[in-house]
Amino acid sequence: MVEYNDLIFEISREGRVGSSLPESDVDHVDLNDKLPKHLIRDLPAELPEVSELQLVRHYTALSNKNHGIDNGFYPLGSCTMKYNPKINEDVARLEGFSRIHPYQPTETVQGALEVLYELQEELAVITGMDAVTLQPSAGAQGEWTGLMMVKAYHKQKGEVRTKVLVPDSAHGTNPASATVAGFDTITIPSNEHGLVDLEELKKHVDENTAALMLTNPNTLGLFEKEIVEIAKVVHEAGGLLYYDGANANAILGKTTPGQMGFDIVHLNLHKTFTTPHGGGGPGAGPVGVKEKLIPFLPVPRVEKVNEVYVLDSNQPLSIGRVKGYYGNFGILLRAYTYIRTMGAEGLRQVSESAVLHANYLRKKLEPYFEAPYSQICKHEFVLSGSRQKKLGVRTLDMAKRLLDFGYHPPTIYFPLNVEECLMIEPTETETKETLDAFADVMIQIAKEVEENPGVVLDAPHTTVIGRLDEVQAARQPILRYTKEKAVNKETVMS
Ligand SMILES: *Cc1c(COP(=O)(O)O)cnc(C)c1O
Repeated sequence: MVEYNDLIFEISREGRVGSSLPESDVDHVDLNDKLPKHLIRDLPAELPEVSELQLVRHYTALSNKNHGIDNGFYPLGSCTMKYNPKINEDVARLEGFSRIHPYQPTETVQGALEVLYELQEELAVITGMDAVTLQPSAGAQGEWTGLMMVKAYHKQKGEVRTKVLVPDSAHGTNPASATVAGFDTITIPSNEHGLVDLEELKKHVDENTAALMLTNPNTLGLFEKEIVEIAKVVHEAGGLLYYDGANANAILGKTTPGQMGFDIVHLNLHKTFTTPHGGGGPGAGPVGVKEKLIPFLPVPRVEKVNEVYVLDSNQPLSIGRVKGYYGNFGILLRAYTYIRTMGAEGLRQVSESAVLHANYLRKKLEPYFEAPYSQICKHEFVLSGSRQKKLGVRTLDMAKRLLDFGYHPPTIYFPLNVEECLMIEPTETETKETLDAFADVMIQIAKEVEENPGVVLDAPHTTVIGRLDEVQAARQPILRYTKEKAVNKETVMS
């Protein structure tokens, strides 16, 4: 078994191959005659040389070391790590979808365009918007796309507005997207209830306000009750409201950002709509807009003209293309499948159960941890490890200890306005037994902190690799394999 723990470079043997091709019957061409000298390597690339079976075992072993939603509970707050139904995969693999090319003539891909068109329509209903683009490939890119439309909208009106307001509980991508889109970010502090402080907001809103970015429920899992008033304040100053839809799992079929007064919305299909998640993608972050922003949507737009689906690029005010082709088509298909299998009533149940599960777990854990905002929450809630910190154990230590029990830890140290934050999102797809078992482990860890803190401080004990030195890992990352480093592997990883 030991062999499968080795790096692929360590099992490499010179000359070993994983494929065999018939002898070529065309004349050999020397690359030196075809390519400029500076593009040709002096030495061959140091690629591992292994058999096909070794390759399969290597990657299978790696995948087994990974924690995913298919092998365990994953209550990562704000990320909505819920089950991805396998029917989505079936549909995405249908040959009529998987074997077409984005540059085929549109009359040969009417079915694919119909799916895109219908998904746009469905997401518009779900968000209460008037039109949707499917192009952005993640929430963050959706934010940037939305803000570029905000900019184009104000410019069209002959205004230059430079400020984007963001609450202090916002996800880091909000200020980052605002900066990349060329705006200045103004942080609005939350009040003692964890909600946007309306009086503070009023102080900052003026003729320079381009937009307010908000997620509702917010990253504490709390619903912004004054949202209608907030929207009024921003709109009266001529600003727009951007809805960060990462928390949409709490509101499906219950309310819409449109009803709350938002002008632009992104959704994270890899969160709320069960497309694969994590590992950096692929994802999808469709953006919906109200009528007045439609002219600025990215092109090409998928439209239906006389019962025929077309790609329309003739939009003079459009911000242009934000992604190759028409978005991550395979991901969009999975989300479409999910929406169609759930139906309107099913989606409403999703949010009801997600909220119920979060409150069930919250009630079980609150006696053992500090609960800075102890009240009915939406689909997620925050706890603070401040009580345990006084005993010398930090939230990070407790998160590491959870690994010993086979759980992915919750999100920690986010949102930034909660000390030693633990942010827990159980999702609707877990059973009561799983929620109970997780609560028992959390309670056990809280007791360990009091009675035997060493076992928490040294955790994890059962994983392939123990506690990493996070500072060294960040300051001296080892990104390239060399023989000397292989010798040092044990010391680096211990
Ligand atoms: C995940 C998340 C984002 C960013 O979305 P990506 O799809 O990861 O780019 C933005 N805001 C909140 C609140 C999130 O949870």
